[in-house]
Amino acid sequence: MHCQPSAIFKVYNWLKIKQTCLLCDERVDTAMPLCVECDAELPWLGPHCRVCALPLAVDGLTCGSCLKRPPPFSRVEAPWRYGFPVDALINGFKHQARWPIGRLLGDLLARHLAHAFDEGLPRPDLLLPVPLSPKRQRQRGFNQAQILAEVVSSALQLARRSDWLQRIGDPPAQQKLDAAARRRNLRGAFRLRPVAQPRGLHLALIDDVLTTGATAQQLARLLTRAGALRVDVYCLARTPAPGDH
Ligand SMILES: [Zn+2]
Ligand SMILES: [Zn+2]
Repeated sequence: MHCQPSAIFKVYNWLKIKQTCLLCDERVDTAMPLCVECDAELPWLGPHCRVCALPLAVDGLTCGSCLKRPPPFSRVEAPWRYGFPVDALINGFKHQARWPIGRLLGDLLARHLAHAFDEGLPRPDLLLPVPLSPKRQRQRGFNQAQILAEVVSSALQLARRSDWLQRIGDPPAQQKLDAAARRRNLRGAFRLRPVAQPRGLHLALIDDVLTTGATAQQLARLLTRAGALRVDVYCLARTPAPGDH
């Protein structure tokens, strides 16, 4: 929906004038509608796999599944582990169209990425939001990944394309499936549109949450087979391994 992003920024600007924290309603004088205390209490990722960002006990290692089956993407960047209150914020953004929250999450992702670029992470040539199926996009009225990509793109002066990747069909909701079922379910669920020109480029996929990584793997494989030099994944939150909280 092309009409919505500008509406989001209007709502956000209005909220900025009010300057209250979106989590606790305290008045703030920071650039973002988030107070210092709430910012500090977010579930920051901590030690994680250096490829897929899976939370681990020790930093700087590669997890067992990335060692056994190296994924087609080079690196996952995520500021948070998927837990309270980030899960509630993401759900409010996705399912109740709480756009000021989406804008805030996008700004915080951009802040995380700016720091990662300063630390040596190579900047991508292009951001590519993970597409929704046409049916889900109609139901929701917007694609949360596209809105995150717009916020990150304008904050960090990175180019983006929303018309390269296409989701075909309407797979059942991913949350209800286990990892193997997700992979089966996703087989053939995406394609590159004819306009896509990934050859020789460093690309970064943008999504809200990385759970099994099956979606990101399928898209990264499509892009590298079409000549992309490197594919990274930027998301808001990474889920821990099952049973690890
Ligand atoms: Zn607060
Ligand atoms: Zn890993």
